[in-house]
Amino acid sequence: MIKHISEPELRAWVDSLLEGPPVYAPQARQGRFAFDRLRRSADLRLDYDVTILPPKKYFLPQQETLVRFTREGGFESAVEAEPFVLFGIHPYDLVAINQLDAIFARAPGDAHYLTRRHAATLVVLDVETVSEHHFAGGLGQATVDGNRDFDAMLTRLPDGSYVAEARTEKGRTLMDGLADAPDAGPESLAAREEVWIRNRKALRKHRLTMAPERIPELLADAHDHPIWEEKGALCYSCGACTLVCPTCYCFDVRDEWNPGLADGERVRTWDGCMFTQFAAVAGGHNFRKSRAARYRHRYFRKGKYVWDMIGEIACVGCGRCIGACTANIANPVEVYNRLQEDTP
Ligand code: SF4
Ligand code: SF4
Repeated sequence: MIKHISEPELRAWVDSLLEGPPVYAPQARQGRFAFDRLRRSADLRLDYDVTILPPKKYFLPQQETLVRFTREGGFESAVEAEPFVLFGIHPYDLVAINQLDAIFARAPGDAHYLTRRHAATLVVLDVETVSEHHFAGGLGQATVDGNRDFDAMLTRLPDGSYVAEARTEKGRTLMDGLADAPDAGPESLAAREEVWIRNRKALRKHRLTMAPERIPELLADAHDHPIWEEKGALCYSCGACTLVCPTCYCFDVRDEWNPGLADGERVRTWDGCMFTQFAAVAGGHNFRKSRAARYRHRYFRKGKYVWDMIGEIACVGCGRCIGACTANIANPVEVYNRLQEDTP
Protein backbone atom coordinates (compact mmCIF):
# COMPACT_ATOMS: atom_id res chain seq x y z
CA MET A 1 0.00 0.00 0.00
CA ILE A 2 1.69 3.22 -1.20
CA LYS A 3 -0.36 6.42 -1.20
CA HIS A 4 0.27 9.94 -2.45
CA ILE A 5 -1.29 12.53 -0.13
CA SER A 6 -1.34 16.27 0.38
CA GLU A 7 -0.24 17.94 3.62
CA PRO A 8 -3.88 18.68 4.68
CA GLU A 9 -4.77 15.03 4.02
CA LEU A 10 -1.83 13.94 6.13
CA ARG A 11 -2.89 16.20 9.03
CA ALA A 12 -6.50 14.95 8.80
CA TRP A 13 -5.22 11.36 8.90
CA VAL A 14 -3.05 12.13 11.94
CA ASP A 15 -6.06 13.73 13.68
CA SER A 16 -8.01 10.51 13.06
CA LEU A 17 -5.13 8.49 14.58
CA LEU A 18 -5.36 10.58 17.74
CA GLU A 19 -8.72 8.97 18.48
CA GLY A 20 -6.93 5.63 18.92
CA PRO A 21 -3.96 4.53 21.06
CA PRO A 22 -1.46 7.22 22.16
CA VAL A 23 0.62 8.76 19.38
CA TYR A 24 4.12 10.05 20.23
CA ALA A 25 5.63 12.40 17.68
CA PRO A 26 8.20 15.20 17.23
CA GLN A 27 7.09 18.61 18.49
CA ALA A 28 8.73 21.98 19.17
CA ARG A 29 10.08 22.37 22.71
CA GLN A 30 11.89 25.59 23.74
CA GLY A 31 13.52 26.19 20.40
CA ARG A 32 14.39 22.53 19.88
CA PHE A 33 12.45 19.35 19.19
CA ALA A 34 11.31 16.43 21.31
CA PHE A 35 9.17 13.34 20.96
CA ASP A 36 6.10 13.73 23.15
CA ARG A 37 2.44 12.67 23.29
CA LEU A 38 0.65 14.32 20.37
CA ARG A 39 -2.68 15.96 21.18
CA ARG A 40 -3.45 17.63 17.84
CA SER A 41 -1.94 17.34 14.39
CA ALA A 42 -1.18 21.08 14.32
CA ASP A 43 1.61 20.44 16.87
CA LEU A 44 3.32 17.84 14.71
CA ARG A 45 6.70 19.05 13.38
CA LEU A 46 7.65 16.85 10.46
CA ASP A 47 10.34 19.39 9.55
CA TYR A 48 12.35 18.74 12.73
CA ASP A 49 16.11 18.33 12.36
CA VAL A 50 16.90 16.15 15.37
CA THR A 51 15.17 15.57 18.72
CA ILE A 52 16.92 16.23 22.04
CA LEU A 53 16.48 12.62 23.19
CA PRO A 54 16.09 9.72 20.79
CA PRO A 55 12.79 7.82 20.57
CA LYS A 56 14.33 4.81 22.35
CA LYS A 57 12.88 6.36 25.53
CA TYR A 58 9.53 4.73 24.67
CA PHE A 59 11.09 1.26 24.87
CA LEU A 60 13.74 1.93 27.51
CA PRO A 61 12.35 4.73 29.71
CA GLN A 62 14.67 6.93 31.76
CA GLN A 63 13.15 5.27 34.83
CA GLU A 64 10.92 2.20 35.03
CA THR A 65 9.70 -0.26 37.64
CA LEU A 66 10.78 -3.80 36.82
CA VAL A 67 9.12 -5.64 39.71
CA ARG A 68 7.12 -4.90 42.85
CA PHE A 69 7.89 -6.89 45.99
CA THR A 70 6.75 -7.23 49.57
CA ARG A 71 8.67 -8.01 52.75
CA GLU A 72 6.80 -11.35 52.96
CA GLY A 73 8.31 -12.44 49.66
CA GLY A 74 5.58 -11.30 47.25
CA PHE A 75 7.02 -10.66 43.80
CA GLU A 76 5.18 -9.28 40.76
CA SER A 77 6.61 -8.30 37.39
CA ALA A 78 5.60 -4.83 36.18
CA VAL A 79 5.58 -5.39 32.41
CA GLU A 80 3.54 -2.84 30.44
CA ALA A 81 1.90 -3.59 27.10
CA GLU A 82 -0.28 -0.64 26.05
CA PRO A 83 -0.36 -0.25 22.24
CA PHE A 84 1.04 3.04 20.95
CA VAL A 85 2.21 4.71 17.75
CA LEU A 86 5.68 6.20 17.41
CA PHE A 87 5.28 8.63 14.55
CA GLY A 88 7.98 10.44 12.58
CA ILE A 89 11.16 8.52 13.45
CA HIS A 90 14.12 9.52 11.31
CA PRO A 91 15.85 6.60 9.54
CA TYR A 92 19.01 6.73 11.70
CA ASP A 93 16.90 6.51 14.88
CA LEU A 94 15.03 3.56 13.38
CA VAL A 95 18.37 1.84 12.77
CA ALA A 96 19.25 2.44 16.43
CA ILE A 97 15.91 0.97 17.56
CA ASN A 98 16.50 -2.09 15.38
CA GLN A 99 19.94 -2.51 16.95
CA LEU A 100 18.38 -2.39 20.40
CA ASP A 101 15.75 -4.89 19.21
CA ALA A 102 18.53 -7.35 18.35
CA ILE A 103 20.41 -6.72 21.59
CA PHE A 104 17.42 -6.92 23.95
CA ALA A 105 16.15 -10.06 22.18
CA ARG A 106 19.36 -11.96 22.98
CA ALA A 107 18.76 -14.76 25.48
CA PRO A 108 17.16 -14.59 27.95
CA GLY A 109 15.46 -11.54 26.35
CA ASP A 110 14.43 -8.36 28.13
CA ALA A 111 10.67 -8.74 28.69
CA HIS A 112 10.17 -5.08 29.54
CA TYR A 113 11.83 -3.77 26.39
CA LEU A 114 10.35 -6.42 24.10
CA THR A 115 6.81 -6.03 25.42
CA ARG A 116 6.85 -2.31 24.72
CA ARG A 117 8.46 -2.86 21.35
CA HIS A 118 5.79 -5.34 20.28
CA ALA A 119 3.10 -2.91 21.41
CA ALA A 120 4.48 -0.16 19.14
CA THR A 121 3.64 0.77 15.58
CA LEU A 122 6.63 2.55 14.03
CA VAL A 123 6.22 5.24 11.38
CA VAL A 124 9.49 6.35 9.80
CA LEU A 125 9.87 9.81 8.29
CA ASP A 126 12.59 10.70 5.79
CA VAL A 127 14.67 13.68 6.94
CA GLU A 128 13.49 17.03 5.61
CA THR A 129 15.77 19.37 7.56
CA VAL A 130 19.42 18.39 8.00
CA SER A 131 20.91 19.26 11.42
CA GLU A 132 24.31 20.92 11.77
CA HIS A 133 25.77 17.62 13.04
CA HIS A 134 24.08 14.87 11.03
CA PHE A 135 26.54 12.42 9.50
CA ALA A 136 24.29 9.38 9.01
CA GLY A 137 24.99 9.51 5.25
CA GLY A 138 28.63 8.48 5.77
CA LEU A 139 27.49 5.47 7.78
CA GLY A 140 24.85 4.38 5.26
CA GLN A 141 22.03 5.24 7.69
CA ALA A 142 20.48 8.35 6.12
CA THR A 143 17.66 6.29 4.60
CA VAL A 144 16.13 2.95 5.56
CA ASP A 145 16.79 -0.18 3.62
CA GLY A 146 14.50 -3.15 3.10
CA ASN A 147 15.97 -5.15 5.99
CA ARG A 148 14.84 -2.76 8.68
CA ASP A 149 11.88 -3.47 10.91
CA PHE A 150 9.20 -0.76 10.86
CA ASP A 151 5.54 -0.48 9.91
CA ALA A 152 5.04 2.55 7.69
CA MET A 153 7.11 5.28 6.09
CA LEU A 154 6.48 8.87 5.08
CA THR A 155 8.51 10.97 2.66
CA ARG A 156 7.91 14.64 1.97
CA LEU A 157 8.38 15.41 -1.72
CA PRO A 158 9.77 18.77 -2.94
CA ASP A 159 6.24 19.98 -3.88
CA GLY A 160 5.09 19.57 -0.24
CA SER A 161 3.01 16.43 -0.80
CA TYR A 162 3.85 13.07 0.86
CA VAL A 163 4.33 9.47 -0.15
CA ALA A 164 3.03 7.17 2.59
CA GLU A 165 3.92 3.49 2.41
CA ALA A 166 2.76 0.64 4.65
CA ARG A 167 5.38 -2.08 5.16
CA THR A 168 3.56 -4.44 7.55
CA GLU A 169 0.04 -5.45 8.52
CA LYS A 170 0.23 -3.01 11.45
CA GLY A 171 1.22 -0.29 9.00
CA ARG A 172 -1.66 -1.16 6.67
CA THR A 173 -4.10 -1.00 9.58
CA LEU A 174 -2.69 2.37 10.59
CA MET A 175 -3.14 3.62 7.02
CA ASP A 176 -6.78 2.48 6.79
CA GLY A 177 -7.73 6.14 7.03
CA LEU A 178 -5.89 6.79 3.75
CA ALA A 179 -7.68 4.04 1.81
CA ASP A 180 -9.45 6.56 -0.44
CA ALA A 181 -6.27 8.51 -1.27
CA PRO A 182 -4.74 7.86 -4.72
CA ASP A 183 -1.99 5.27 -5.05
CA ALA A 184 1.46 6.77 -5.51
CA GLY A 185 2.24 6.79 -9.23
CA PRO A 186 5.61 6.44 -10.98
CA GLU A 187 6.24 10.20 -10.79
CA SER A 188 5.82 10.47 -7.04
CA LEU A 189 7.86 7.28 -6.50
CA ALA A 190 10.64 8.74 -8.65
CA ALA A 191 10.47 11.96 -6.61
CA ARG A 192 10.81 9.88 -3.43
CA GLU A 193 13.86 8.16 -4.86
CA GLU A 194 15.36 11.61 -5.48
CA VAL A 195 14.76 12.55 -1.84
CA TRP A 196 16.65 9.42 -0.76
CA ILE A 197 19.56 10.22 -3.09
CA ARG A 198 19.62 13.81 -1.79
CA ASN A 199 19.57 12.71 1.85
CA ARG A 200 22.36 10.17 1.45
CA LYS A 201 24.55 13.06 0.29
CA ALA A 202 23.17 15.81 2.53
CA LEU A 203 23.45 14.03 5.89
CA ARG A 204 27.24 14.34 5.87
CA LYS A 205 27.94 17.43 7.95
CA HIS A 206 31.01 15.67 9.30
CA ARG A 207 32.91 13.60 6.75
CA LEU A 208 34.08 10.14 7.65
CA THR A 209 37.21 9.38 5.62
CA MET A 210 36.66 5.62 5.54
CA ALA A 211 33.99 3.00 4.95
CA PRO A 212 32.19 2.24 8.24
CA GLU A 213 33.32 -1.42 8.09
CA ARG A 214 36.88 -0.17 8.57
CA ILE A 215 36.14 1.23 12.05
CA PRO A 216 36.30 -2.08 13.99
CA GLU A 217 39.65 -2.89 12.34
CA LEU A 218 41.05 0.53 13.24
CA LEU A 219 39.96 0.16 16.85
CA ALA A 220 41.44 -3.31 17.13
CA ASP A 221 44.89 -1.72 16.77
CA ALA A 222 44.19 1.50 18.67
CA HIS A 223 44.01 0.47 22.31
CA ASP A 224 47.14 2.49 23.16
CA HIS A 225 46.61 5.41 20.77
CA PRO A 226 47.44 8.83 22.33
CA ILE A 227 44.04 10.28 21.39
CA TRP A 228 42.41 8.64 24.42
CA GLU A 229 44.67 10.55 26.84
CA GLU A 230 44.55 13.78 24.80
CA LYS A 231 40.75 13.99 24.55
CA GLY A 232 40.06 12.22 27.83
CA ALA A 233 42.01 14.93 29.69
CA LEU A 234 39.37 17.45 28.58
CA CYS A 235 36.35 15.33 29.54
CA TYR A 236 34.06 16.49 32.38
CA SER A 237 32.58 12.98 32.86
CA CYS A 238 29.16 14.62 32.59
CA GLY A 239 27.73 11.67 30.65
CA ALA A 240 25.74 13.85 28.24
CA CYS A 241 27.17 12.09 25.17
CA THR A 242 25.83 8.75 26.37
CA LEU A 243 22.46 9.99 27.61
CA VAL A 244 21.50 11.52 24.24
CA CYS A 245 22.73 8.56 22.20
CA PRO A 246 20.08 6.39 20.48
CA THR A 247 22.24 3.26 20.67
CA CYS A 248 23.35 3.52 24.32
CA TYR A 249 21.40 1.18 26.55
CA CYS A 250 23.35 0.81 29.80
CA PHE A 251 21.27 0.99 32.94
CA ASP A 252 21.41 0.77 36.71
CA VAL A 253 19.04 -1.32 38.84
CA ARG A 254 18.27 -0.68 42.50
CA ASP A 255 15.64 -1.67 45.05
CA GLU A 256 13.58 1.13 46.58
CA TRP A 257 11.58 0.40 49.75
CA ASN A 258 8.40 2.33 50.45
CA PRO A 259 8.01 4.10 53.83
CA GLY A 260 7.32 1.47 56.51
CA LEU A 261 9.43 -1.11 54.65
CA ALA A 262 6.43 -3.37 53.97
CA ASP A 263 6.97 -3.33 50.23
CA GLY A 264 8.99 -1.74 47.46
CA GLU A 265 10.01 -1.69 43.83
CA ARG A 266 13.00 -2.73 41.76
CA VAL A 267 13.75 0.26 39.54
CA ARG A 268 15.82 0.52 36.37
CA THR A 269 17.28 3.90 35.33
CA TRP A 270 19.54 5.02 32.49
CA ASP A 271 23.25 4.96 33.25
CA GLY A 272 26.30 5.67 31.11
CA CYS A 273 29.91 4.56 30.79
CA MET A 274 31.20 8.15 30.92
CA PHE A 275 30.12 8.60 34.54
CA THR A 276 32.94 8.18 37.07
CA GLN A 277 30.99 5.65 39.16
CA PHE A 278 29.78 3.49 36.27
CA ALA A 279 32.56 0.95 36.59
CA ALA A 280 32.91 1.20 40.38
CA VAL A 281 32.69 -2.19 42.09
CA ALA A 282 32.93 -3.64 45.59
CA GLY A 283 36.08 -2.98 47.60
CA GLY A 284 36.51 0.56 46.34
CA HIS A 285 37.77 -0.58 42.93
CA ASN A 286 36.93 1.06 39.62
CA PHE A 287 37.94 -0.79 36.48
CA ARG A 288 37.73 2.36 34.33
CA LYS A 289 39.05 4.86 36.81
CA SER A 290 40.72 7.32 34.44
CA ARG A 291 38.90 9.68 32.11
CA ALA A 292 40.99 8.35 29.23
CA ALA A 293 39.84 4.78 29.92
CA ARG A 294 36.19 5.86 29.95
CA TYR A 295 36.63 7.99 26.86
CA ARG A 296 38.26 5.11 24.99
CA HIS A 297 35.59 2.67 26.12
CA ARG A 298 32.81 4.75 24.57
CA TYR A 299 34.41 4.59 21.11
CA PHE A 300 35.24 0.91 21.39
CA ARG A 301 31.70 0.21 22.46
CA LYS A 302 30.29 2.15 19.47
CA GLY A 303 32.76 0.96 16.87
CA LYS A 304 33.83 -2.53 17.93
CA TYR A 305 32.06 -4.27 20.79
CA VAL A 306 28.55 -4.01 19.32
CA TRP A 307 29.99 -4.81 15.88
CA ASP A 308 31.42 -8.00 17.35
CA MET A 309 28.02 -8.78 18.87
CA ILE A 310 25.52 -8.00 16.05
CA GLY A 311 27.63 -6.98 13.05
CA GLU A 312 26.65 -3.29 13.04
CA ILE A 313 28.42 -0.08 14.02
CA ALA A 314 26.61 1.30 17.07
CA CYS A 315 26.83 4.85 15.87
CA VAL A 316 24.08 5.89 13.46
CA GLY A 317 25.31 9.42 12.80
CA CYS A 318 22.58 11.39 14.56
CA GLY A 319 25.18 13.87 15.79
CA ARG A 320 23.47 14.36 19.18
CA CYS A 321 26.65 13.68 21.16
CA ILE A 322 28.55 16.35 19.21
CA GLY A 323 25.99 19.01 20.13
CA ALA A 324 25.67 17.81 23.74
CA CYS A 325 29.36 17.89 24.65
CA THR A 326 30.39 21.16 26.28
CA ALA A 327 34.07 20.13 26.05
CA ASN A 328 33.72 19.73 22.28
CA ILE A 329 35.44 16.34 22.26
CA ALA A 330 32.58 13.92 21.52
CA ASN A 331 32.65 13.87 17.72
CA PRO A 332 32.98 10.23 16.61
CA VAL A 333 33.98 11.28 13.09
CA GLU A 334 36.97 13.26 14.41
CA VAL A 335 38.10 10.31 16.49
CA TYR A 336 37.75 7.66 13.78
CA ASN A 337 39.32 9.93 11.12
CA ARG A 338 42.29 10.53 13.41
CA LEU A 339 42.76 6.79 13.93
CA GLN A 340 42.57 6.32 10.18
CA GLU A 341 45.20 9.05 9.61
CA ASP A 342 47.56 7.51 12.14
CA THR A 343 47.18 3.93 10.97
CA PRO A 344 49.63 2.90 8.26
S1 SF4 B 1 27.68 8.15 19.09
FE1 SF4 B 1 26.85 10.23 18.84
S2 SF4 B 1 26.40 10.43 16.64
FE2 SF4 B 1 26.69 8.24 17.08
S3 SF4 B 1 24.61 7.48 17.45
FE3 SF4 B 1 25.47 8.04 19.47
S4 SF4 B 1 24.82 10.18 19.81
FE4 SF4 B 1 24.49 9.71 17.63
S1 SF4 C 1 29.65 14.92 26.82
FE1 SF4 C 1 31.83 15.43 26.50
S2 SF4 C 1 32.52 16.11 28.53
FE2 SF4 C 1 30.57 15.00 28.87
S3 SF4 C 1 31.20 12.86 29.26
FE3 SF4 C 1 30.84 13.02 27.05
S4 SF4 C 1 32.89 13.47 26.17
FE4 SF4 C 1 33.02 13.91 28.39
